[in-house]
Amino acid sequence: MAKVLCVLYDDPEDGMPTEYARDGLPKLERYPDGQTLPTPSAIDFNPGELLGSVSGELGLRSFLESQGHELVVTSDKDRDDSEFDRHLADAEIVISQPFWPAYLTEERIAKAPNLKLAVTAGIGSDHVDLDAAIAGGITVAEVTYCNSISVAEHVVMMILSLVRNYLPSHDWVRKGGWNIADCVARAYDVEGMDIGTIAAGRIGLAVLRRLAPFDVRLHYTDRHRLPDDVERELNLTFHETAQDMVPNCDVVTVNAPLHPQTRGMFNDELLGTMKRGAYLINTARGLIADRDAIVRALESGQLAGYAGDVWYPQPAPADHPWRTMPHHGMTPHISGSTLSAQARYAAGTREILESYFAGQPLRDEYLIVDGGKLAGAGAHSYSTSS
Ligand code: NDP
Repeated sequence: MAKVLCVLYDDPEDGMPTEYARDGLPKLERYPDGQTLPTPSAIDFNPGELLGSVSGELGLRSFLESQGHELVVTSDKDRDDSEFDRHLADAEIVISQPFWPAYLTEERIAKAPNLKLAVTAGIGSDHVDLDAAIAGGITVAEVTYCNSISVAEHVVMMILSLVRNYLPSHDWVRKGGWNIADCVARAYDVEGMDIGTIAAGRIGLAVLRRLAPFDVRLHYTDRHRLPDDVERELNLTFHETAQDMVPNCDVVTVNAPLHPQTRGMFNDELLGTMKRGAYLINTARGLIADRDAIVRALESGQLAGYAGDVWYPQPAPADHPWRTMPHHGMTPHISGSTLSAQARYAAGTREILESYFAGQPLRDEYLIVDGGKLAGAGAHSYSTSS
């Protein structure tokens, strides 16, 4: 029987909700590209409940315990001798969400001789050292597509809120003011702007589709070009590299995975080639941007705004400079963890576990590493350091 170690974020400060803002969730049939939603044999939760925090347990306890497996759930993951470290020593499966990642470093993997499967309840498995997972024969899987649209919606919200200066204007209302000039002195329309995405995968393409009705000019760069008919439909300009694209854009959104090719991409040099007063939205991974270069660009006015929900490390320390830099719209890592997304990735996690325990292959689109190499979605979108 397997020991399953699940690392989740803390419950709300006032305890688990006893009621929710809405009843249930809209029913989706399929993802936009036709991929089916998760197909576990059953679920033991009500879609729309908080599942991603410790007491939510991703709705997995009764399923796992009814089969004789042990489930350990903790949020304690980073301090020396954390509960995560203690249980990792004999865990067969580790589950964690990118929002509160259980960093599976090479050192930790070396101390986990029984580890066979690392599941990302969400998308983005960069918290796992993929080279070490490959070397250790560990399968890495994620719930591909589960929250891609959740993030795309968040990106559009952040673009509008930065360009239109929404957050400072809202603050004036809360402070009892009616300071229109203070609010509008940094407010612009999105209409007519050039907006580009670094990567046009599931999230990046969904962002482009959602922005098209705003009468903007759309740009993208990606390792693989989109089909001609999609480029024509959205009137997209393709650029071979990020370096080619960003000088043309008023707004850039980052939607690529973190891997050796994208780490540190937005450094002083690349930021310096952007239009003065451009906006940068990064909901992909914190380490794709150079932390201090972002602060410098906001302070100098090279960037007019920066928003996103991804940091390094997570949780971000209280003194992280992105909490206090000017003109930012940062949130904790939330865009992919709406109640809507949680229902999908909890079901997808269960689907992955059901396949694993039955000795059946995992869906190819869920795989990042398998059989000692990048596999499935991972073989398409990631790279290794070698
Ligand atoms: P996809 O795999 O659908 O898309 C990723 C895209 O990035 C692919 O088209 C890939 O290209 C492209 N890409 C990879 N490397 C580069 C590069 N060096 N330059 C340009 N393009 C590149 O994933 P999603 O769109 O669903 O998610 C993307 C990322 O967003 C995740 O990996 C994760 O880091 C982040 N994310 C954040 C969330 C949040 O809550 N904030 C939630 C979900 C995801 P190709 O495959 O063509 O080679």
